[in-house]
Amino acid sequence: MGTLLVRNARVLVTMDAQRREIADGAVFIRDNVIEQVGASANLPQQADEVIDAGRHVVLPGLVNTHHHMYQSLTRALPAAQDAELFDWLQALYPVWAGLRPEMLRVATLTAMTELLLSGCTTSSDHLYLFPNGCRLEDSIEAAQRIGMRFHATRGAMSVGRSQGGLPPDSLVEDEAAILKDSQRLIETWHDSRRHAMLRIALAPCSPFSVSRDLMREAAAMARHYGVGLHTHLAENASDVAYSREKFNMTPAEYAESCGWVGPDVWHAHCVQLDEHGIDLFARTGTGVAHCPCSNMRLASGIAPVRRMHERGVAVGLGVDGSASNDGAHMLGEARQAMLLQRVGFGPDAMSARQALELATLGGARVLGRDDIGALAPGMSADLVMFSLDGIGFAGALHDPVAALVFCPPANVDCSIVNGRVVVREGRCVTVETGVLLEQHQHCAMALASG
Ligand SMILES: [Zn+2]
Repeated sequence: MGTLLVRNARVLVTMDAQRREIADGAVFIRDNVIEQVGASANLPQQADEVIDAGRHVVLPGLVNTHHHMYQSLTRALPAAQDAELFDWLQALYPVWAGLRPEMLRVATLTAMTELLLSGCTTSSDHLYLFPNGCRLEDSIEAAQRIGMRFHATRGAMSVGRSQGGLPPDSLVEDEAAILKDSQRLIETWHDSRRHAMLRIALAPCSPFSVSRDLMREAAAMARHYGVGLHTHLAENASDVAYSREKFNMTPAEYAESCGWVGPDVWHAHCVQLDEHGIDLFARTGTGVAHCPCSNMRLASGIAPVRRMHERGVAVGLGVDGSASNDGAHMLGEARQAMLLQRVGFGPDAMSARQALELATLGGARVLGRDDIGALAPGMSADLVMFSLDGIGFAGALHDPVAALVFCPPANVDCSIVNGRVVVREGRCVTVETGVLLEQHQHCAMALASG
């Protein structure tokens, strides 16, 4: 791939151990790895490609720790606009049952384009329904095509309505088949090496859609192979009530009883995680994917992120699925995280820089990676460039870094993933966005009309 130099950055936000912000900063990349970071004057002046970042704030690529990309086909669906989690799911399950492989591929590619333009370079995706021949490969192929660093999670639902679960029986899978497919996916695709572009994690969907046995067996398999574990937990009051009624435990107690705590586990939401749960997660290194927009959209509540932060819980950000956050914008998610913590816990509950840290280092830690989330020698070459020339930043250049979070969420001008320029001049260069959006609209209409 050769060498790539990004130089003259207005500010280079490193997120390194000293949290340095370098004026007139530069990054020198060889192949897919960062070799040098510093002031432009102190770095090499030549490279195979040189990108001038004189109008930009340069950041480590943002990390999205929770998403359901297929849901980009069902944004703003009238039947699910004004419901809380369980009603919202029950309105959408019958629609999602019509998902087909071609729709899944197009939806994932579209969701990834949206994420890349918003500053995200690494994303997780939680795919937990596989109707009509859909496979995890449909999303993996989309990531490979677009050039995004990807943590594909093999989700699952196995407890249908007739067994006391929430989803319709027609959407659940047999548990032996789920485990067999999980094993196949890990053996085929999982890359545990540094700078990996693709990892697999196991992700039974939620306590109200899978059995305790499947939770335990998924944990055993994940640990055998050294892959991550991901699910939804303590999302809202109904979720907690289900756990108490069905298992006679809080969600955190249930997770612990199934072996679902540890640095290899990350739980989405945790809006209603209690003090015991926060302590447990801090002690065990268990991660949280905080999804503020979705939590507001479904009126789930305000996750105690400030408290988690004080206790040392690993917290990253997730945009969550596009049916519960109809705008999957990573920088926007950081902004909402900051604003929502302030609504809940006061004006000093989260600063702009803390929000950016959640979106970079926080996400990297939650996904179990030490090679992304910061710009430093030896890290993967993932960086994004935001221009501050737009009207949204007028009058905000007193503090360009804080402005990125306080002002309206901007799209990137340039995005580099694993040493490759994937967004250039504000356009994703690996897909034909116009054609893709036409296909996406066609798929969305077909899915909604059954
Ligand atoms: Zn979710």
